[in-house]
Amino acid sequence: MRYSRALIPTVKEAPSDAVTASHILLTRAGYVRRIGAGIYSFLPIGFRVLKKIEQIITGEMDRAGAQQVLLPALLPADYFKESGRWDSFGDTMMRLKDRKGGDYHLGPTHEEIICDMARREIKSYRDLPKNLYQVQTKYRDEARPRAGLLRCREFTMKDAYSFDLNDAGALESYETMRAAYTRIFDRTGLTYRMVNADSGAMGGSQSAEFQVLTQSGEDQIVACEKCDYAANVEVASVRAGEPPTLPSDIPARKQVSTPKKKTIEDVSKFLDKEPASFLKSLVVRADGELVMAVVRGDHELSETKLARVLGVSEIGLAEPGAVVKTTGAKLGFSGPVGFSGKVVIDSAVLGIADGVCGANVTDAHLVHVQAERDFEATSADIRNVTEGDVCPECGGQLKLYRGIEAGHIFVLGTHYSDKMGATYLDKEQVKRSMVMGCYGIGVSRLVAATVEQHHDDNGILWPMSIAPYQVHIAQLGEEPQVVEAVAKLEQDLEDAGIEVLIDDRKERPGVKFKDADLIGIPLRVTVGARSLKTGQVELKPRAEPNPKNAELIQLSDAPQLIVERVQKLLKS
Ligand SMILES: [Zn+2]
Repeated sequence: MRYSRALIPTVKEAPSDAVTASHILLTRAGYVRRIGAGIYSFLPIGFRVLKKIEQIITGEMDRAGAQQVLLPALLPADYFKESGRWDSFGDTMMRLKDRKGGDYHLGPTHEEIICDMARREIKSYRDLPKNLYQVQTKYRDEARPRAGLLRCREFTMKDAYSFDLNDAGALESYETMRAAYTRIFDRTGLTYRMVNADSGAMGGSQSAEFQVLTQSGEDQIVACEKCDYAANVEVASVRAGEPPTLPSDIPARKQVSTPKKKTIEDVSKFLDKEPASFLKSLVVRADGELVMAVVRGDHELSETKLARVLGVSEIGLAEPGAVVKTTGAKLGFSGPVGFSGKVVIDSAVLGIADGVCGANVTDAHLVHVQAERDFEATSADIRNVTEGDVCPECGGQLKLYRGIEAGHIFVLGTHYSDKMGATYLDKEQVKRSMVMGCYGIGVSRLVAATVEQHHDDNGILWPMSIAPYQVHIAQLGEEPQVVEAVAKLEQDLEDAGIEVLIDDRKERPGVKFKDADLIGIPLRVTVGARSLKTGQVELKPRAEPNPKNAELIQLSDAPQLIVERVQKLLKS
């Protein structure tokens, strides 16, 4: 492709609302343009990247025995009404009416529609298993679309659905998809972790997220430095050691005055005590009941874990009025000693020998507090994992990361097939519900996630496997020998199946190099009159930060050498 004929409108200025690297760079380098809140057009080079990611995904899905379909984006309301999601999806669903006043919506996901295909076309146990997938545009009316392609209202997704005879079959399909996803993410050149996810509202028994590790992700995850263990901080388990034997010579607990000192930081300074010796006490509401949760002062409560311990679906902080009423003190002075309701403490609190907590008296705290000795409580793992915690699998150290969720796989069970009547007849002619699995990848989100992970101050650094072009040729000058050398190189490389972008614009070298860095094609070849005097051209990988480290290679050797480099980068 000749740059002079291509539409690659690079711009100096980032969009005024752009904060994330991918939003800034994809716009500046001419990959995407914003059309409205959370709605983007892909320009030619952006579309090439999107298609390359799509090809890796579809290739691996086909290889794993799945078949591609295309379901409509415009959906009559009936199907989501059948599953109950017409109501439960709420404002996130893009709804519309046709000319006759009929209810329609744009598909946010397609479980119901694929279930309809299954119930019509699959009749017998002999027809199973099946795995069907599509690459399609989805619509979600996000409250706060943000960060360019990372959170959009219209986006491209690959969604696959497996149908099996029973749970064992569904698990087998899940494992097949897990292996396919690992190959997909390996091939995109991303650093990622497969994370044990909280399956949350979907209610699957097996689920995992594929998180791309970045500086700017929405999700906080921990990963072991030694083994493959990774999990969301709210669900990662903390390996509880033996509860320590506490010294018995700690004086009896005592109330001290802490006027207006409400936060742990304030009280810690005021009493000159480490935050780790505090019993951080939070009053939460669990199914109407007020419960006190206590974690160490330097730890964070995991509402997800606490909800699990209490056997309730959701936990929320109690409203201030209720806290004041039940503890008899202003906010900031609650504590477990003498608390009227149930108290749940994190296991680490058992290790506090000489603790501090709120006295349930305004402007007062208790010192010399020990759990067990001074109050009754249930102890459990109810805190978020932190950096340096011990890996529950191997005993290694856990590290904190930010992650962008780019893929999610899980066993759905029979939730949708029960509701939609997706059944089959087994060998005994008994009607049974198909057991489903569901597997998504955010295709357009992966474009942005890649840039978040692969960029520097000057622009994007695409992995070779998904770069819009593989080689960028900067043509310096219009001399006949330069024009001829570029044309020959273009011909040889394209004959070898290499994708080439040739910057033949009438621009200064500085402009061409700046744009080349911004666009981020992995290999750059510079062809100019000066080096051609000795029959040479310059080769520089985009990832090489120092321009002095560019190599001079013979023009005659260039095609073969460049092909080898491209192939090497495709494999790495
Ligand atoms: Zn480990």
